[in-house]
Amino acid sequence: MLRVAVIGGGPSGSCAAEILAKAGIKTWLFERKLDNAKPCGGAIPLCMVEEFDLPESIIDRKVRHMRMISPSNREVDISLDRVYGKSDNEFIGMCRREVMDAFMRNRASDLGATLVNGLVTSIDTGDNNQGPYKLSYSDFSNGDKKGELKELTVDLLVGADGANSRVAKAMDAGDYKVAIAFQERIKLPKEEMSYYEDLAEMYVGTDVSPDFYGWVFPKYDHVAVGTGTMQKNQSLIKGLQEGVRNRAKKRLVNGEVIKVEAHPIPEHPRPRRVVGRMALVGDAAGYVTKSSGEGIYFAAKSGRMCAEEIVDASKKRSNYSLRKGFKKLFKKMG
Ligand SMILES: Cc1cc2nc3c(=O)[nH]c(=O)nc-3n(C[C@H](O)[C@H](O)[C@H](O)COP(=O)(O)OP(=O)(O)OC[C@H]3O[C@@H](n4cnc5c(N)ncnc54)[C@H](O)[C@@H]3O)c2cc1C
Repeated sequence: MLRVAVIGGGPSGSCAAEILAKAGIKTWLFERKLDNAKPCGGAIPLCMVEEFDLPESIIDRKVRHMRMISPSNREVDISLDRVYGKSDNEFIGMCRREVMDAFMRNRASDLGATLVNGLVTSIDTGDNNQGPYKLSYSDFSNGDKKGELKELTVDLLVGADGANSRVAKAMDAGDYKVAIAFQERIKLPKEEMSYYEDLAEMYVGTDVSPDFYGWVFPKYDHVAVGTGTMQKNQSLIKGLQEGVRNRAKKRLVNGEVIKVEAHPIPEHPRPRRVVGRMALVGDAAGYVTKSSGEGIYFAAKSGRMCAEEIVDASKKRSNYSLRKGFKKLFKKMG
């Protein structure tokens, strides 16, 4: 039986593992932190809810008004009420990543993937990167913070381990440029939160970012306030975050910072995304829209498409060669 390890239990990994497990392929899904709260604005398009069969319970807010705020603080509303009419059901979903990721990961596990609470620390890629692939990992399932050192050998590897991907390094996938994003979760009293009931804000101007934008995205009981910039401006990031907070300050009165987070966002795909029988998906591959930093949908989609190619290849007994299937995949991904 074909053995596949998916490294990383974010949207890309869970969506890959789900398809593989459903097809009866022996699948391990590795996630280093089961309550991981990926630093993220958590905005998803409506099409993702339908396509990935996501329940209402993982969506904190249904945004129908996107308020764009200019450098001189002029406000322009992009309102779905105006575009589609009030009775329409379109929305941008606002999610907390710890909630959404846990749902998708548990679904993959319920469908038959073996969920391993473990950190993959090294990967032996075999002769000429052709496998079999020997993973060493720290298994945290016994509750021990240091973890128990273990090994697993598989025929195929899916790297869904995000922007700092270990799988990408092991397969020498090459580098990509990144933006640096910074975000604070700010808990607001009920009255202030009501302004953000179904509204999100995007700020532009050199005070919030020289080359990206600042955002205030509403969640269950807090707002995610953040900004991003290209890596060369990394040293400015805290000042830019201050800029967003200043601009939004009249809305953030009595706010309490409950979390501070930062993470790279890939700007473009890596030079190599399939080597031997190893493939990268999601942020590990670099499937993010450069202008907006949107990557959740593309992560889920690329994970699913990758797994579908693996299932196809395994049925055709084509020595599990992924190259042909992945050429098709890249074409589809554009
Ligand atoms: C501040 C910020 C705001 C953003 N806002 C948005 C937004 O509003 N909308 C949007 O669509 N996109 C947004 N993005 C981009 C989005 O977060 C990513 O594109 C998306 O998370 C990619 O999903 P993924 O599954 O590929 O990787 P990730 O979500 O990064 O998941 C990787 C997983 O792998 C695990 N992992 C890593 N290494 C190992 C290892 N060695 N062993 C075991 N597990 C491992 C991690 O714990 C993690 O759970 C934002 C990004 C940032 C940084």
